[in-house]
Amino acid sequence: MILIDGKKTSQDIKNEIASRVAEIKAEGGKVPHLAAVLVGNDGASQTYVGAKVKSCEEVGFVSTLVRLEADITEEELLKVVEDINTNPDIDGLIVQLPLPKHISVDKVTNKIKPEKDVDGFTPANVGRMTLNWPAYVAATPYGIVELLKRYQIETAGKHCVVIGRSHIVGSPMSILMARNGYPGNATVTLTHSKTQNLAEICRSADILIVAIGKPEFVTADMVKRGAVVIDVGIHRIEDASKKSGFRLIGDVKFDEVAEKAAAITPVPGGVGPMTIAALLYNTLQSAEKKVFG
Ligand code: NAP
Repeated sequence: MILIDGKKTSQDIKNEIASRVAEIKAEGGKVPHLAAVLVGNDGASQTYVGAKVKSCEEVGFVSTLVRLEADITEEELLKVVEDINTNPDIDGLIVQLPLPKHISVDKVTNKIKPEKDVDGFTPANVGRMTLNWPAYVAATPYGIVELLKRYQIETAGKHCVVIGRSHIVGSPMSILMARNGYPGNATVTLTHSKTQNLAEICRSADILIVAIGKPEFVTADMVKRGAVVIDVGIHRIEDASKKSGFRLIGDVKFDEVAEKAAAITPVPGGVGPMTIAALLYNTLQSAEKKVFG
């Protein structure tokens, strides 16, 4: 069984990005600049944004964290986004989700200039990805694509089952796996909460990508021997034996599934770290005008 090591792979990518940033600096070019907008005081969001800002520092990017009160109006937030859109020094803009309930995520997402949408959430980038045009691909699916590539996982002609159809993970993942390219050319089944006979469908998967958001949902009896299993889920569960008081688990029951799988991502240390590496990569692409020209 191959353990698909997202921690090491993401570090490799960060090292590659840091080398490129060093070259840009040596050439007197513009250092990539990512702006992150955080609304309110949600603990998990603060942790995620903090990790993104820290990673920017690690690779030599400039980063700006814009912190806004939870009671900011939608109009005020749209104005902040517009200001960043028109700031020529900033290459990438992310608005950390979730947003407070009185603000429309769709409106805010749609306000982000596609050329700076390094999260790949705007309709323009989703459309471009779907057409197989150059695009900013959402960081989590992009991170998974990169893992499949770097571990040389064969995808052409394989049956890929994706569990979950969210806009940020499952849906884009299904499109990427079906596209004409590598990784891709798979025969894809996209499943969701209305899917019937899910376990049976999963058992026919050569590649199983799980983004259901339910702890240890996928058990060994749902997995074909020799399958490649990608676990996107992240859940904190209490664990008194840990200093932090919790440990992380995924959507897949790792120990029993690992015994059957040909390759599998662990949680933590699988897809999670790749998401940040992909975001940094998209920001570098933006600074170098590689996607929109
Ligand atoms: P989400 O928006 O909650 O979507 C969950 C999907 O699972 C939905 O499409 C839902 O179907 C489907 N589903 C729910 N119950 C099901 C069932 N019994 N059978 C089949 N499908 C079912 O989740 P998400 O944002 O994609 O995230 C999924 C997991 O990945 C979460 O644990 C999240 O924390 C994690 N995540 C990790 C990263 C990372 O960087 N590693 C990034 C993003 C998310 P319906 O559409 O029918 O409701």
